[in-house]
Amino acid sequence: MTALRPDVAQSDPHRQPESGRPGGVALPRLAAPVSDKAAVGAENAGLVQLHESIAALLASRGQWRQAYQHLRSALDIVYADQDEQPHIPEQLRREVDRLRKEHAEAREQSIRDSLTDSYNRRYLDQKLVDMLTRGTTGRGLAVALIDLDFFKQVNDTFGHLLGDRVLQRVVELLQHDLPRGAFCARYGGEEFALVLPGLDTSAAVSVVEAARERVERHDWAEIAPGLRVTVSVGLAHESAADGSAEHQPVGAEQQLLRADSLLYTAKQSGRNAVAYRENGRVRLAGAASKRRSIAETRVLGYY
Ligand code: GH3
Ligand code: MG
Ligand code: MG
Repeated sequence: MTALRPDVAQSDPHRQPESGRPGGVALPRLAAPVSDKAAVGAENAGLVQLHESIAALLASRGQWRQAYQHLRSALDIVYADQDEQPHIPEQLRREVDRLRKEHAEAREQSIRDSLTDSYNRRYLDQKLVDMLTRGTTGRGLAVALIDLDFFKQVNDTFGHLLGDRVLQRVVELLQHDLPRGAFCARYGGEEFALVLPGLDTSAAVSVVEAARERVERHDWAEIAPGLRVTVSVGLAHESAADGSAEHQPVGAEQQLLRADSLLYTAKQSGRNAVAYRENGRVRLAGAASKRRSIAETRVLGYY
């Protein structure tokens, strides 16, 4: 078993980093080279030693990730040679659990919006690129851009703090009952995105129209008498790549641009509506489709 130095296992999390180590966390050092261990068979010892030497060289250059991978390979060889799993001291186990938890919390914070707790723009951008490049979207990918109507007036009339509470409530309403794999992200200011993978156009329109209706029908007077909140939505649906020459897959940026353009149409057509495109034509969802005509606006990003 390869033990960590006791001073590492009991390390103070606020300790200053070792010189030259980026990121402020000291790497644990091995008490003795892995290859010294009697448990390693003769033929593997050379390989283990090689991994260790490369790890030392990479670490001296600050290439910590690659160094770790070589040390990990050395340890894997040692463990494979042993009959029993090594005993891991309780203190070390707790330290690893703590570091894992801290890492998970830091990652979660880095992808969340602090006001609404929805995902943030960074997460949205990464996830969209991921989904579009991996092609794991089944019947396609729908992106809805949602903008609160006349929100400046809400702030002006009821104050900025109440405006913040409205944004939090809107996110709760948008996130309610989303299909599997879908998520809500703050796009910026009073704009949000709903990402809906694996749905065809009409299913995506139903989900988004239901979300718009939830916002409209919510009892806003509970927050402030006289308060009323609605949202306008642009929904851009892209079908999954089918490998044909006619189907040109769009990038994340272009799909957002199309959704933004449709959002503009929804605003121009009287707000409190979902605009989307079907068979080459722009439409409004639900009751708005019967009541209103669509404003003559050029929808950008389509050819
Ligand atoms: P429209 O229907 O055309 O979208 O009108 P609008 O008033 O919603 O649009 P406008 O762009 O004029 O105003 C957006 C307002 O959203 C102004 C800005 O102060 C407010 N806002 C953006 N982020 C926040 C926030 O985090 N908290 C609060 N309370 N207000 C915000
Ligand atoms: Mg806006
Ligand atoms: Mg607005």
